[in-house]
Amino acid sequence: MYQNGSSATDHPDLSAFEDVDFSTAETRDVVVVGTGPAGWTAALYTARADLNPLIFMGPEPGGQLTTTTDVENYPGFPEGLLGPEMMDRFQEQAERFGTESRYGTVTHVDFRERPHRLLIDEETPVYAQTVIISTGASARYLGLENEQRLIGKGVSACATCDGSFFRGETVAVVGGGDSAMEESTFLTKFADKVYVIHRRDELRASKIMQERAFENDKIEFVWNTEVIDVLGETAVEGIEVVNNDTGETRVMDDVTGFFLAIGHTPNTEPFEGWIDMDAQNYIETEADSTYTNRPGVFACGDAQDDEYRQAVTAAGTGCKAAIDAERWLSEHGRAEIQASGAERTPVKA
Ligand code: NAP
Repeated sequence: MYQNGSSATDHPDLSAFEDVDFSTAETRDVVVVGTGPAGWTAALYTARADLNPLIFMGPEPGGQLTTTTDVENYPGFPEGLLGPEMMDRFQEQAERFGTESRYGTVTHVDFRERPHRLLIDEETPVYAQTVIISTGASARYLGLENEQRLIGKGVSACATCDGSFFRGETVAVVGGGDSAMEESTFLTKFADKVYVIHRRDELRASKIMQERAFENDKIEFVWNTEVIDVLGETAVEGIEVVNNDTGETRVMDDVTGFFLAIGHTPNTEPFEGWIDMDAQNYIETEADSTYTNRPGVFACGDAQDDEYRQAVTAAGTGCKAAIDAERWLSEHGRAEIQASGAERTPVKA
């Protein structure tokens, strides 16, 4: 296994491919991996370029937007629309131009040579002349049962998306990093009061972000404290917390919005060791493009962007990946598969 942030210089374990017969596997010009805004946009553009893309829906079809309610910041939709509906529309538009969508998760890849080999759900083989990775990132949650149940009903991991629903209310943000500072400061535009609940007595956030939060009258820090339950049947009606020093528990019943800011995890595990990633396992791409270090493999959306993480920016990079893949394919052509399926055109790194 490769370590985080290492360069992909060799290749990882290929044992998952050992018993899989690739001799009858289909070969596609473009395989898109993941169905958030980036993936559907990449599919739309490659479909319109007559590349007949195949898109795998992944474990969470539609991605993070399917866990939000109204999306009010996507340009062109002045009335806003529901996240899941937005993703249905992305899908419909991509399919209208010939995208083939399939349920399934790309679990293993072999990027040594072209066409690249992919395994879907551990067993189904597919060859791909180009691969567009748009697997997104997942917000981290505490993992509490009631927290999970109330996602989209007062529990959110995206203040930018959901903050405006809490006008005049009291909300809590968990975390002590830059995201927690940024999100709590942002939330004060809407909420009357914002608690920042941090498990230690010292923040991880940069000084400037800390100071901005400290200076904000609407923000109150709750130190050495962890959230142990989220209360409410159909909406958040409070949270239960424990003080890590004293062990004392209490209910904060004024909290009606509960925001997580404890980091994101990019969904890039199947590609570890194959493509260069940063220390947090976000995929590294060449400046101003979606090229990874593997020829014919492109990355877009939140799997490659830990900075902006918006639907519209993800869609934008999905478009770039499609254009990059199309140009790359017309420049490099399609690699031949030998009759045995074993010998493939070596890729020059
Ligand atoms: P982060 O820096 O990893 O901070 C995560 C915070 O959540 C930490 O304070 C951590 O506590 C806390 N945490 C983690 N797991 C927890 C749990 N199970 N229970 C309670 N608390 C938990 O993540 P981030 O704030 O999302 O930032 C990620 C990266 O993006 C950073 O490099 C950051 O600088 C960057 N960023 C930059 C900006 C900006 O410059 N505008 C804005 C946002 C993010 P501990 O401190 O105790 O570990």
